[in-house]
Amino acid sequence: MATPINIDKMATFCKQKGFIYPSSEIYGGISGFFDYGPLGSELKNNIKQAWWKFHVQDREDIVGIDGSIITHPKVWVASGHVENFEDVMLECTKCRERYRGDVLIEDMLKIQADGLKADDINKLVKQNNINCPKCKSPLGEAAPFNLMFQTNVGPKAAKDSVAYLRPETAQVMFVDFKYIVENARLKLPFGIAQIGRAFRNEISPRNFLFRCREFEQMEIEYFIHPEKSNDCPFLKSVESHEIFVWSEEMQKKKQKEKKMKIKEALEKGIIKTAWHGYWLATEHKWFISLGADPDKFRIRQHLSEEKSHYALDTWDLEYNFPFGWKELQGMANRTDFDLQQHIKHSKKDLSLFDEQEKKKIVPHVVAEPSQGVDRAFLVMMFDAYNQDPKDKERDWVVLKLNPKIAPIKVGIFPLVNKLEDDAREVYESLKTLFTCQFDRSGAIGRRYARADEIGIPYCVTFDFDSREDKSVTIRDRDSTKQVRVKIEDLKNTLYQLIVGEIEFEKAGKLIKQK
Ligand code: ATP
Repeated sequence: MATPINIDKMATFCKQKGFIYPSSEIYGGISGFFDYGPLGSELKNNIKQAWWKFHVQDREDIVGIDGSIITHPKVWVASGHVENFEDVMLECTKCRERYRGDVLIEDMLKIQADGLKADDINKLVKQNNINCPKCKSPLGEAAPFNLMFQTNVGPKAAKDSVAYLRPETAQVMFVDFKYIVENARLKLPFGIAQIGRAFRNEISPRNFLFRCREFEQMEIEYFIHPEKSNDCPFLKSVESHEIFVWSEEMQKKKQKEKKMKIKEALEKGIIKTAWHGYWLATEHKWFISLGADPDKFRIRQHLSEEKSHYALDTWDLEYNFPFGWKELQGMANRTDFDLQQHIKHSKKDLSLFDEQEKKKIVPHVVAEPSQGVDRAFLVMMFDAYNQDPKDKERDWVVLKLNPKIAPIKVGIFPLVNKLEDDAREVYESLKTLFTCQFDRSGAIGRRYARADEIGIPYCVTFDFDSREDKSVTIRDRDSTKQVRVKIEDLKNTLYQLIVGEIEFEKAGKLIKQK
Protein backbone atom coordinates (compact mmCIF):
# COMPACT_ATOMS: atom_id res chain seq x y z
CA MET A 1 0.00 0.00 0.00
CA ALA A 2 1.34 3.40 -0.97
CA THR A 3 1.63 6.16 1.63
CA PRO A 4 -0.66 9.09 0.81
CA ILE A 5 1.18 12.37 0.31
CA ASN A 6 -0.06 15.57 -1.25
CA ILE A 7 0.98 16.90 -4.63
CA ASP A 8 3.28 19.61 -3.24
CA LYS A 9 5.21 17.04 -1.21
CA MET A 10 5.50 14.87 -4.29
CA ALA A 11 6.85 17.82 -6.28
CA THR A 12 9.44 18.48 -3.56
CA PHE A 13 10.45 14.82 -3.41
CA CYS A 14 10.79 14.68 -7.22
CA LYS A 15 13.01 17.76 -7.22
CA GLN A 16 15.22 16.58 -4.35
CA LYS A 17 15.87 13.19 -5.88
CA GLY A 18 16.43 14.35 -9.46
CA PHE A 19 13.17 13.23 -11.04
CA ILE A 20 11.67 16.61 -12.01
CA TYR A 21 12.79 20.23 -11.84
CA PRO A 22 10.63 23.30 -12.42
CA SER A 23 11.79 24.65 -15.78
CA SER A 24 14.33 27.54 -15.80
CA GLU A 25 14.13 27.97 -12.05
CA ILE A 26 17.30 30.09 -11.86
CA TYR A 27 15.38 32.77 -13.80
CA GLY A 28 12.34 32.52 -11.59
CA GLY A 29 10.69 29.57 -13.39
CA ILE A 30 7.94 29.49 -16.01
CA SER A 31 4.55 28.16 -15.02
CA GLY A 32 3.43 24.91 -16.65
CA PHE A 33 6.85 23.74 -17.87
CA PHE A 34 9.05 21.08 -16.26
CA ASP A 35 12.40 19.41 -16.88
CA TYR A 36 12.89 15.71 -16.29
CA GLY A 37 16.15 15.12 -14.39
CA PRO A 38 18.50 12.12 -14.50
CA LEU A 39 16.08 9.71 -12.80
CA GLY A 40 12.91 11.27 -14.19
CA SER A 41 14.03 10.97 -17.79
CA GLU A 42 14.87 7.27 -17.28
CA LEU A 43 11.51 6.59 -15.63
CA LYS A 44 9.61 8.53 -18.29
CA ASN A 45 11.43 6.67 -21.09
CA ASN A 46 10.64 3.36 -19.42
CA ILE A 47 6.94 4.26 -19.19
CA LYS A 48 6.89 5.22 -22.87
CA GLN A 49 8.76 2.07 -23.89
CA ALA A 50 6.41 -0.10 -21.82
CA TRP A 51 3.43 1.59 -23.50
CA TRP A 52 4.92 1.15 -26.99
CA LYS A 53 5.72 -2.52 -26.38
CA PHE A 54 2.27 -3.28 -24.95
CA HIS A 55 0.32 -1.34 -27.59
CA VAL A 56 2.45 -1.60 -30.72
CA GLN A 57 5.22 -4.21 -30.67
CA ASP A 58 3.26 -6.96 -28.91
CA ARG A 59 0.31 -6.63 -31.30
CA GLU A 60 -0.26 -7.40 -34.96
CA ASP A 61 -3.06 -4.88 -35.47
CA ILE A 62 -1.35 -1.61 -34.41
CA VAL A 63 1.52 0.27 -36.05
CA GLY A 64 3.32 3.36 -34.80
CA ILE A 65 4.37 6.65 -36.36
CA ASP A 66 6.28 9.74 -35.23
CA GLY A 67 4.78 12.85 -36.79
CA SER A 68 5.94 16.46 -36.84
CA ILE A 69 4.94 18.90 -34.12
CA ILE A 70 4.19 21.74 -36.54
CA THR A 71 1.92 20.85 -39.44
CA HIS A 72 0.14 22.78 -42.16
CA PRO A 73 -2.20 25.14 -40.26
CA LYS A 74 -5.17 23.84 -42.25
CA VAL A 75 -4.90 20.58 -40.29
CA TRP A 76 -6.13 22.47 -37.24
CA VAL A 77 -8.85 24.25 -39.19
CA ALA A 78 -10.16 20.89 -40.43
CA SER A 79 -9.95 19.29 -36.99
CA GLY A 80 -11.96 22.14 -35.46
CA HIS A 81 -9.18 23.27 -33.10
CA VAL A 82 -8.81 26.76 -34.61
CA GLU A 83 -12.47 27.44 -34.03
CA ASN A 84 -13.29 25.41 -30.96
CA PHE A 85 -10.25 24.42 -28.91
CA GLU A 86 -11.16 26.76 -26.11
CA ASP A 87 -11.48 26.88 -22.38
CA VAL A 88 -13.47 29.52 -20.58
CA MET A 89 -11.36 32.03 -18.66
CA LEU A 90 -12.35 34.02 -15.59
CA GLU A 91 -10.22 36.92 -14.40
CA CYS A 92 -10.29 38.60 -11.02
CA THR A 93 -11.21 42.29 -11.36
CA LYS A 94 -8.72 43.25 -8.66
CA CYS A 95 -5.68 40.96 -8.40
CA ARG A 96 -5.97 39.84 -12.08
CA GLU A 97 -5.52 36.17 -11.17
CA ARG A 98 -6.88 33.98 -14.01
CA TYR A 99 -8.92 30.82 -13.60
CA ARG A 100 -10.16 28.14 -15.92
CA GLY A 101 -13.93 28.54 -15.57
CA ASP A 102 -14.99 24.88 -15.47
CA VAL A 103 -12.22 23.94 -13.01
CA LEU A 104 -13.16 26.79 -10.66
CA ILE A 105 -16.85 25.81 -10.79
CA GLU A 106 -15.94 22.16 -10.12
CA ASP A 107 -13.78 23.13 -7.15
CA MET A 108 -16.31 25.53 -5.65
CA LEU A 109 -19.60 23.77 -6.36
CA LYS A 110 -18.42 20.12 -6.57
CA ILE A 111 -20.34 19.54 -9.81
CA GLN A 112 -19.19 18.28 -13.20
CA ALA A 113 -18.52 21.41 -15.29
CA ASP A 114 -16.31 20.18 -18.15
CA GLY A 115 -17.58 21.60 -21.44
CA LEU A 116 -19.73 24.41 -19.97
CA LYS A 117 -19.91 27.50 -22.19
CA ALA A 118 -19.02 31.05 -21.05
CA ASP A 119 -22.71 31.96 -20.58
CA ASP A 120 -23.37 28.97 -18.31
CA ILE A 121 -20.28 29.78 -16.26
CA ASN A 122 -21.30 33.44 -15.92
CA LYS A 123 -24.70 32.33 -14.66
CA LEU A 124 -23.23 29.91 -12.10
CA VAL A 125 -20.74 32.53 -10.87
CA LYS A 126 -23.55 35.04 -10.32
CA GLN A 127 -26.07 32.59 -8.83
CA ASN A 128 -23.54 31.27 -6.33
CA ASN A 129 -21.72 34.53 -5.58
CA ILE A 130 -18.37 33.05 -6.51
CA ASN A 131 -15.50 35.48 -5.94
CA CYS A 132 -11.77 35.25 -6.60
CA PRO A 133 -10.49 32.46 -4.29
CA LYS A 134 -7.23 34.38 -3.81
CA CYS A 135 -8.33 37.93 -2.88
CA LYS A 136 -12.13 37.47 -2.57
CA SER A 137 -12.87 40.29 -5.06
CA PRO A 138 -15.51 39.92 -7.81
CA LEU A 139 -14.65 38.00 -10.96
CA GLY A 140 -15.01 39.58 -14.41
CA GLU A 141 -17.14 38.22 -17.27
CA ALA A 142 -16.17 34.74 -18.45
CA ALA A 143 -14.69 34.62 -21.94
CA PRO A 144 -13.49 31.83 -24.25
CA PHE A 145 -9.74 31.46 -24.73
CA ASN A 146 -8.08 29.38 -27.49
CA LEU A 147 -5.42 27.08 -26.03
CA MET A 148 -3.23 26.66 -29.10
CA PHE A 149 0.28 28.14 -29.08
CA GLN A 150 0.91 30.13 -32.25
CA THR A 151 4.21 30.58 -34.04
CA ASN A 152 5.38 31.76 -37.44
CA VAL A 153 7.03 29.59 -40.04
CA GLY A 154 9.76 31.31 -42.05
CA PRO A 155 11.53 34.61 -41.56
CA LYS A 156 8.49 36.90 -41.85
CA ALA A 157 5.91 37.12 -39.09
CA ALA A 158 2.75 37.65 -41.13
CA LYS A 159 -0.81 36.38 -41.18
CA ASP A 160 0.00 33.79 -43.84
CA SER A 161 2.98 32.41 -41.91
CA VAL A 162 1.00 31.56 -38.76
CA ALA A 163 1.28 27.94 -37.63
CA TYR A 164 0.48 26.10 -34.41
CA LEU A 165 2.35 23.85 -32.02
CA ARG A 166 0.15 20.77 -32.02
CA PRO A 167 -2.26 20.60 -29.06
CA GLU A 168 -2.57 16.80 -29.46
CA THR A 169 -0.66 14.14 -31.39
CA ALA A 170 -3.78 12.64 -32.94
CA GLN A 171 -4.36 14.58 -36.16
CA VAL A 172 -1.19 13.38 -37.92
CA MET A 173 -2.59 9.84 -37.76
CA PHE A 174 -5.55 11.00 -39.88
CA VAL A 175 -3.54 13.19 -42.24
CA ASP A 176 -1.07 10.37 -43.05
CA PHE A 177 -3.82 7.74 -42.94
CA LYS A 178 -3.63 6.66 -46.60
CA TYR A 179 0.17 6.23 -46.62
CA ILE A 180 0.22 4.29 -43.36
CA VAL A 181 -2.54 1.89 -44.43
CA GLU A 182 -0.78 1.17 -47.72
CA ASN A 183 2.77 0.89 -46.37
CA ALA A 184 1.87 -1.29 -43.40
CA ARG A 185 -0.72 -3.24 -45.48
CA LEU A 186 -3.31 -2.72 -42.77
CA LYS A 187 -6.73 -4.39 -42.89
CA LEU A 188 -9.61 -3.32 -40.64
CA PRO A 189 -9.75 -3.40 -37.68
CA PHE A 190 -6.40 -1.71 -36.99
CA GLY A 191 -4.82 1.05 -34.97
CA ILE A 192 -2.23 3.76 -35.48
CA ALA A 193 -0.23 4.82 -32.43
CA GLN A 194 2.01 7.72 -31.61
CA ILE A 195 3.96 9.12 -28.68
CA GLY A 196 5.00 12.75 -28.74
CA ARG A 197 4.91 16.27 -27.38
CA ALA A 198 1.78 18.39 -27.29
CA PHE A 199 1.36 22.01 -26.25
CA ARG A 200 -1.59 23.80 -24.69
CA ASN A 201 -1.55 27.35 -23.38
CA GLU A 202 -3.44 26.29 -20.25
CA ILE A 203 -5.09 29.17 -18.40
CA SER A 204 -3.98 28.02 -14.99
CA PRO A 205 -1.49 25.16 -14.97
CA ARG A 206 -1.44 23.50 -11.56
CA ASN A 207 -1.07 20.31 -9.60
CA PHE A 208 2.55 19.87 -10.70
CA LEU A 209 2.78 17.58 -13.74
CA PHE A 210 -0.97 17.05 -13.91
CA ARG A 211 -1.65 20.17 -15.96
CA CYS A 212 1.34 21.50 -17.89
CA ARG A 213 1.64 23.71 -20.95
CA GLU A 214 4.11 21.35 -22.61
CA PHE A 215 3.48 17.64 -22.11
CA GLU A 216 3.59 14.31 -23.90
CA GLN A 217 0.81 12.08 -25.11
CA MET A 218 0.60 8.40 -26.03
CA GLU A 219 -2.35 8.03 -28.37
CA ILE A 220 -4.04 5.42 -30.53
CA GLU A 221 -6.63 5.90 -33.22
CA TYR A 222 -8.38 2.55 -33.54
CA PHE A 223 -10.24 2.14 -36.84
CA ILE A 224 -13.04 -0.32 -37.56
CA HIS A 225 -15.53 -1.03 -40.32
CA PRO A 226 -18.43 1.43 -39.72
CA GLU A 227 -20.94 -1.40 -39.32
CA LYS A 228 -18.85 -3.59 -37.03
CA SER A 229 -18.64 -1.75 -33.73
CA ASN A 230 -19.53 -4.91 -31.81
CA ASP A 231 -17.35 -7.25 -33.78
CA CYS A 232 -14.35 -7.28 -31.43
CA PRO A 233 -12.26 -10.47 -31.74
CA PHE A 234 -10.38 -9.67 -28.51
CA LEU A 235 -13.41 -9.23 -26.26
CA LYS A 236 -13.01 -12.63 -24.55
CA SER A 237 -9.66 -11.53 -23.11
CA VAL A 238 -11.29 -8.74 -21.07
CA GLU A 239 -14.87 -9.91 -20.39
CA SER A 240 -14.15 -10.96 -16.84
CA HIS A 241 -11.94 -7.95 -16.13
CA GLU A 242 -13.31 -5.88 -13.23
CA ILE A 243 -13.23 -2.12 -12.95
CA PHE A 244 -15.11 0.63 -11.11
CA VAL A 245 -17.70 2.05 -13.52
CA TRP A 246 -19.38 5.47 -13.16
CA SER A 247 -21.93 5.85 -15.93
CA GLU A 248 -23.84 8.99 -16.90
CA GLU A 249 -26.94 7.57 -15.19
CA MET A 250 -25.08 6.89 -11.93
CA GLN A 251 -23.67 10.41 -11.95
CA LYS A 252 -27.08 11.98 -12.56
CA LYS A 253 -28.67 9.87 -9.80
CA LYS A 254 -25.81 10.85 -7.47
CA GLN A 255 -24.79 7.20 -7.06
CA LYS A 256 -21.23 6.12 -6.42
CA GLU A 257 -19.14 4.21 -8.94
CA LYS A 258 -19.68 0.45 -8.90
CA LYS A 259 -17.20 -2.33 -9.52
CA MET A 260 -18.32 -4.61 -12.33
CA LYS A 261 -17.08 -6.96 -15.00
CA ILE A 262 -16.78 -5.56 -18.54
CA LYS A 263 -19.22 -8.28 -19.63
CA GLU A 264 -21.88 -6.95 -17.23
CA ALA A 265 -21.33 -3.33 -18.33
CA LEU A 266 -21.80 -4.38 -21.96
CA GLU A 267 -24.83 -6.61 -21.29
CA LYS A 268 -26.55 -3.81 -19.37
CA GLY A 269 -25.82 -1.37 -22.20
CA ILE A 270 -23.75 0.88 -19.90
CA ILE A 271 -20.81 0.67 -22.28
CA LYS A 272 -22.30 0.88 -25.74
CA THR A 273 -19.92 -1.07 -27.96
CA ALA A 274 -17.79 -4.17 -27.49
CA TRP A 275 -14.78 -2.33 -28.86
CA HIS A 276 -15.11 0.50 -26.36
CA GLY A 277 -15.38 -2.06 -23.53
CA TYR A 278 -12.31 -3.84 -24.82
CA TRP A 279 -10.20 -0.67 -24.95
CA LEU A 280 -11.29 0.64 -21.56
CA ALA A 281 -10.34 -2.67 -19.92
CA THR A 282 -7.09 -2.89 -21.88
CA GLU A 283 -5.95 0.54 -20.75
CA HIS A 284 -6.71 -0.30 -17.12
CA LYS A 285 -4.76 -3.56 -17.57
CA TRP A 286 -1.76 -1.65 -18.91
CA PHE A 287 -1.50 0.35 -15.68
CA ILE A 288 -1.93 -2.82 -13.61
CA SER A 289 0.82 -4.56 -15.62
CA LEU A 290 3.17 -1.86 -14.34
CA GLY A 291 2.24 -2.37 -10.73
CA ALA A 292 -0.49 0.27 -10.21
CA ASP A 293 -3.24 -0.42 -7.66
CA PRO A 294 -6.33 -1.51 -9.73
CA ASP A 295 -8.83 -0.07 -7.24
CA LYS A 296 -7.55 3.49 -7.59
CA PHE A 297 -8.96 3.65 -11.13
CA ARG A 298 -12.48 4.10 -12.46
CA ILE A 299 -14.03 4.73 -15.84
CA ARG A 300 -16.37 7.73 -16.00
CA GLN A 301 -18.79 8.31 -18.85
CA HIS A 302 -19.04 11.85 -20.17
CA LEU A 303 -22.39 13.51 -19.52
CA SER A 304 -24.38 14.30 -22.69
CA GLU A 305 -23.81 18.04 -22.19
CA GLU A 306 -20.07 17.52 -21.69
CA LYS A 307 -19.44 15.26 -24.68
CA SER A 308 -17.93 16.69 -27.87
CA HIS A 309 -20.55 17.16 -30.59
CA TYR A 310 -19.00 14.51 -32.88
CA ALA A 311 -18.47 11.81 -30.23
CA LEU A 312 -20.92 8.93 -30.01
CA ASP A 313 -19.79 8.02 -26.50
CA THR A 314 -16.82 9.12 -24.40
CA TRP A 315 -15.30 7.62 -21.27
CA ASP A 316 -12.40 8.86 -19.20
CA LEU A 317 -10.10 6.55 -17.30
CA GLU A 318 -9.73 8.36 -13.98
CA TYR A 319 -7.32 7.96 -11.07
CA ASN A 320 -7.89 8.81 -7.45
CA PHE A 321 -5.13 11.40 -6.97
CA PRO A 322 -4.58 13.06 -3.56
CA PHE A 323 -6.36 16.08 -5.10
CA GLY A 324 -9.38 14.00 -6.15
CA TRP A 325 -10.54 11.77 -9.02
CA LYS A 326 -9.04 13.19 -12.20
CA GLU A 327 -8.80 12.28 -15.87
CA LEU A 328 -5.82 10.15 -16.79
CA GLN A 329 -6.94 9.19 -20.23
CA GLY A 330 -9.77 10.27 -22.50
CA MET A 331 -11.37 7.70 -24.78
CA ALA A 332 -13.90 8.92 -27.30
CA ASN A 333 -15.76 6.99 -29.97
CA ARG A 334 -15.06 9.62 -32.65
CA THR A 335 -16.86 7.83 -35.51
CA ASP A 336 -15.63 9.05 -38.92
CA PHE A 337 -15.58 12.73 -37.87
CA ASP A 338 -11.86 13.37 -38.34
CA LEU A 339 -11.40 11.46 -41.59
CA GLN A 340 -14.50 13.13 -43.06
CA GLN A 341 -13.24 16.56 -42.01
CA HIS A 342 -9.88 15.96 -43.67
CA ILE A 343 -11.59 14.57 -46.78
CA LYS A 344 -13.69 17.76 -46.94
CA HIS A 345 -10.86 20.22 -46.32
CA SER A 346 -8.05 18.52 -48.30
CA LYS A 347 -10.34 17.22 -51.06
CA LYS A 348 -8.37 13.96 -50.97
CA ASP A 349 -9.93 10.52 -50.90
CA LEU A 350 -9.20 8.93 -47.51
CA SER A 351 -11.69 6.08 -47.85
CA LEU A 352 -10.82 2.38 -47.99
CA PHE A 353 -12.23 -0.24 -50.34
CA ASP A 354 -14.40 -2.91 -48.74
CA GLU A 355 -13.51 -6.04 -50.73
CA GLN A 356 -16.53 -7.98 -49.48
CA GLU A 357 -19.18 -5.42 -50.26
CA LYS A 358 -17.28 -3.93 -53.21
CA LYS A 359 -17.73 -0.36 -52.06
CA LYS A 360 -15.77 2.47 -50.56
CA ILE A 361 -16.06 3.02 -46.81
CA VAL A 362 -14.73 5.64 -44.42
CA PRO A 363 -13.59 3.75 -41.29
CA HIS A 364 -14.77 4.78 -37.84
CA VAL A 365 -12.52 5.48 -34.87
CA VAL A 366 -14.34 3.32 -32.34
CA ALA A 367 -11.98 4.33 -29.55
CA GLU A 368 -9.18 6.82 -29.20
CA PRO A 369 -7.20 5.91 -26.08
CA SER A 370 -5.40 9.17 -25.40
CA GLN A 371 -3.00 9.03 -22.46
CA GLY A 372 -0.81 11.79 -21.04
CA VAL A 373 2.71 10.50 -20.31
CA ASP A 374 3.20 13.00 -17.48
CA ARG A 375 -0.05 11.95 -15.80
CA ALA A 376 1.00 8.28 -16.07
CA PHE A 377 4.33 9.28 -14.50
CA LEU A 378 2.47 10.84 -11.56
CA VAL A 379 0.38 7.68 -11.07
CA MET A 380 3.50 5.52 -10.94
CA MET A 381 5.13 7.86 -8.41
CA PHE A 382 2.08 8.09 -6.14
CA ASP A 383 1.55 4.33 -6.24
CA ALA A 384 5.20 3.68 -5.45
CA TYR A 385 5.79 6.21 -2.68
CA ASN A 386 6.04 4.50 0.72
CA GLN A 387 7.11 5.81 4.06
CA ASP A 388 5.95 3.88 7.05
CA PRO A 389 6.34 5.88 10.31
CA LYS A 390 6.03 2.60 12.24
CA ASP A 391 8.93 0.99 10.39
CA LYS A 392 11.72 1.12 12.96
CA GLU A 393 14.31 -0.25 10.55
CA ARG A 394 13.60 1.98 7.61
CA ASP A 395 12.79 5.57 8.49
CA TRP A 396 13.26 6.66 4.89
CA VAL A 397 11.13 6.65 1.73
CA VAL A 398 10.96 3.36 -0.15
CA LEU A 399 9.95 3.99 -3.74
CA LYS A 400 8.31 0.72 -4.75
CA LEU A 401 8.35 1.24 -8.50
CA ASN A 402 7.71 -1.84 -10.58
CA PRO A 403 11.17 -3.19 -11.60
CA LYS A 404 10.12 -3.00 -15.27
CA ILE A 405 9.96 0.79 -15.12
CA ALA A 406 12.41 1.56 -12.28
CA PRO A 407 14.96 4.11 -13.57
CA ILE A 408 17.88 2.10 -12.16
CA LYS A 409 17.40 -1.64 -11.99
CA VAL A 410 20.49 -2.75 -10.06
CA GLY A 411 22.77 -1.18 -7.47
CA ILE A 412 26.22 -2.76 -7.12
CA PHE A 413 28.19 -2.29 -3.92
CA PRO A 414 31.54 -3.49 -2.66
CA LEU A 415 31.05 -4.27 1.06
CA VAL A 416 34.33 -2.45 1.83
CA ASN A 417 36.56 -0.31 -0.36
CA LYS A 418 39.25 -2.93 -0.79
CA LEU A 419 36.71 -5.09 -2.69
CA GLU A 420 36.03 -2.29 -5.16
CA ASP A 421 37.85 -3.82 -8.15
CA ASP A 422 35.97 -7.10 -7.80
CA ALA A 423 32.63 -5.33 -7.45
CA ARG A 424 33.44 -3.17 -10.48
CA GLU A 425 33.97 -6.30 -12.54
CA VAL A 426 30.43 -7.38 -11.63
CA TYR A 427 29.16 -3.89 -12.49
CA GLU A 428 30.91 -3.94 -15.90
CA SER A 429 29.33 -7.28 -16.74
CA LEU A 430 25.81 -6.09 -15.83
CA LYS A 431 25.73 -2.53 -17.12
CA THR A 432 25.29 -3.48 -20.78
CA LEU A 433 22.08 -5.30 -19.90
CA PHE A 434 20.52 -3.21 -17.14
CA THR A 435 20.71 0.40 -15.95
CA CYS A 436 23.08 0.00 -12.99
CA GLN A 437 24.51 2.22 -10.30
CA PHE A 438 27.86 1.59 -8.67
CA ASP A 439 28.00 2.95 -5.13
CA ARG A 440 31.03 2.63 -2.85
CA SER A 441 30.53 5.50 -0.45
CA GLY A 442 29.24 5.21 3.10
CA ALA A 443 28.09 2.33 5.27
CA ILE A 444 26.20 -0.41 3.47
CA GLY A 445 22.97 0.52 5.30
CA ARG A 446 23.25 4.08 4.03
CA ARG A 447 23.76 2.79 0.49
CA TYR A 448 20.64 0.59 0.78
CA ALA A 449 18.67 3.61 2.01
CA ARG A 450 19.82 5.74 -0.94
CA ALA A 451 18.85 2.95 -3.32
CA ASP A 452 15.42 2.50 -1.69
CA GLU A 453 14.64 6.19 -2.01
CA ILE A 454 15.15 6.22 -5.76
CA GLY A 455 13.41 2.89 -6.30
CA ILE A 456 16.32 0.56 -7.19
CA PRO A 457 14.62 -2.84 -6.88
CA TYR A 458 17.75 -5.01 -6.47
CA CYS A 459 21.10 -4.32 -4.83
CA VAL A 460 24.06 -6.66 -5.34
CA THR A 461 26.80 -6.72 -2.70
CA PHE A 462 30.26 -8.16 -3.22
CA ASP A 463 31.52 -9.22 0.22
CA PHE A 464 34.46 -11.01 1.85
CA ASP A 465 33.15 -14.47 0.90
CA SER A 466 32.48 -13.55 -2.73
CA ARG A 467 36.02 -14.25 -3.93
CA GLU A 468 35.86 -17.71 -2.40
CA ASP A 469 32.35 -18.87 -3.23
CA LYS A 470 32.11 -16.87 -6.49
CA SER A 471 28.73 -15.62 -5.28
CA VAL A 472 27.14 -12.30 -4.34
CA THR A 473 24.16 -11.23 -2.28
CA ILE A 474 21.04 -9.74 -3.91
CA ARG A 475 18.83 -7.67 -1.64
CA ASP A 476 15.17 -7.11 -2.49
CA ARG A 477 14.02 -3.50 -2.02
CA ASP A 478 10.43 -4.30 -1.04
CA SER A 479 10.98 -7.07 1.51
CA THR A 480 14.67 -6.39 2.40
CA LYS A 481 15.19 -10.16 2.08
CA GLN A 482 18.50 -11.35 0.69
CA VAL A 483 19.54 -14.31 -1.46
CA ARG A 484 22.98 -15.64 -2.35
CA VAL A 485 23.52 -16.17 -6.08
CA LYS A 486 26.48 -17.47 -8.14
CA ILE A 487 28.08 -14.64 -10.13
CA GLU A 488 27.82 -16.71 -13.29
CA ASP A 489 24.01 -16.90 -12.84
CA LEU A 490 23.60 -13.25 -11.86
CA LYS A 491 22.58 -11.79 -15.25
CA ASN A 492 19.94 -14.41 -15.82
CA THR A 493 18.58 -14.23 -12.27
CA LEU A 494 18.33 -10.45 -12.34
CA TYR A 495 16.59 -10.54 -15.71
CA GLN A 496 14.02 -13.04 -14.42
CA LEU A 497 13.44 -10.94 -11.32
CA ILE A 498 13.00 -7.71 -13.29
CA VAL A 499 10.48 -9.12 -15.76
CA GLY A 500 8.67 -10.92 -12.93
CA GLU A 501 9.39 -14.48 -14.03
CA ILE A 502 10.53 -15.71 -10.59
CA GLU A 503 9.74 -14.90 -6.99
CA PHE A 504 12.55 -13.32 -5.02
CA GLU A 505 12.79 -16.10 -2.44
CA LYS A 506 13.32 -18.63 -5.21
CA ALA A 507 16.01 -16.59 -6.94
CA GLY A 508 18.87 -18.04 -4.89
CA LYS A 509 19.79 -19.38 -1.46
CA LEU A 510 17.76 -17.37 1.07
CA ILE A 511 19.96 -15.80 3.73
CA LYS A 512 18.67 -15.89 7.30
CA GLN A 513 18.71 -12.38 8.70
CA LYS A 514 19.10 -11.48 12.33
P1 ATP B 1 -8.48 18.04 -19.12
O1 ATP B 1 -10.00 17.96 -19.08
O2 ATP B 1 -7.81 17.52 -17.89
O3 ATP B 1 -7.98 19.38 -19.58
P2 ATP B 1 -8.66 17.00 -21.74
O4 ATP B 1 -9.98 16.27 -21.70
O5 ATP B 1 -8.59 18.32 -22.40
O6 ATP B 1 -8.02 17.04 -20.28
P3 ATP B 1 -7.63 15.37 -23.80
O7 ATP B 1 -7.74 16.41 -24.84
O8 ATP B 1 -8.63 14.25 -23.81
O9 ATP B 1 -7.59 16.04 -22.37
O10 ATP B 1 -6.14 14.81 -23.84
C1 ATP B 1 -5.83 13.45 -23.64
C2 ATP B 1 -4.90 13.27 -22.46
O11 ATP B 1 -3.75 14.11 -22.57
C3 ATP B 1 -5.50 13.61 -21.11
O12 ATP B 1 -6.30 12.57 -20.62
C4 ATP B 1 -4.27 13.82 -20.27
O13 ATP B 1 -3.73 12.58 -19.82
C5 ATP B 1 -3.30 14.47 -21.27
N1 ATP B 1 -3.34 15.92 -21.09
C6 ATP B 1 -4.19 16.80 -21.63
N2 ATP B 1 -3.92 18.05 -21.25
C7 ATP B 1 -2.84 17.97 -20.45
C8 ATP B 1 -2.06 18.93 -19.75
N3 ATP B 1 -2.34 20.22 -19.83
N4 ATP B 1 -1.01 18.50 -19.01
C9 ATP B 1 -0.71 17.19 -18.94
N5 ATP B 1 -1.41 16.23 -19.59
C10 ATP B 1 -2.46 16.60 -20.34
